[in-house]
Amino acid sequence: MSTAERGKVRVEKGRYRLDGKFHYGYPNDPIWNEDGKLMGVTNPRDVTHVHMYGGEAPFFEGLGKGKLLGTCCDNPDCEADGSIFIPFRIHCPDCLGKNTIVDMTDTARKGATVHTFMTTERTGAFNTLPKPIRFVNVEFEGVPTILMGYLSVGKPEIGMKVVPIFNTASPTYTILDLSWVPDGTNESEIPEGFTF
Ligand SMILES: [Zn+2]
Repeated sequence: MSTAERGKVRVEKGRYRLDGKFHYGYPNDPIWNEDGKLMGVTNPRDVTHVHMYGGEAPFFEGLGKGKLLGTCCDNPDCEADGSIFIPFRIHCPDCLGKNTIVDMTDTARKGATVHTFMTTERTGAFNTLPKPIRFVNVEFEGVPTILMGYLSVGKPEIGMKVVPIFNTASPTYTILDLSWVPDGTNESEIPEGFTF
């Protein structure tokens, strides 16, 4: 079945405009038991999910430009005063005020370490990362939160120094545009399309 008219979304005067088809159905198949009795049917479906980023959009746009953005609360009356949050938080969890965006790229390059890690061969549906996936929890100097990411080169170790790499050649505008490699990794070792 052709998916040439697959749905696209654009924004016009602050409103989302949807063009094309967002739902495709395909011919089904019967499910039989050993005695040839009908047990059910499969229902193939193909749905285009529209994921709005809202206030987190600058974070995802930044990755494609080689930038790691965090946020901070600069309300002087808040206990979190000065705390920087990565992952990107739109609002302060303590005073619920709107946070300010801070560029954390240089901090990440200088002082990111692996807090802990997990290696997995079993992935969810639609996984596009090479297996085994080396998930790393990345810690930054002076940041109270920890960022989940994936290592693209080498074997993860607790306390390992890592630096960010970004898919700047053809960004997907998803979290996969950000990955990590051990400090000192050569440019020739990083995945195609990624830059430091
Ligand atoms: Zn606050």
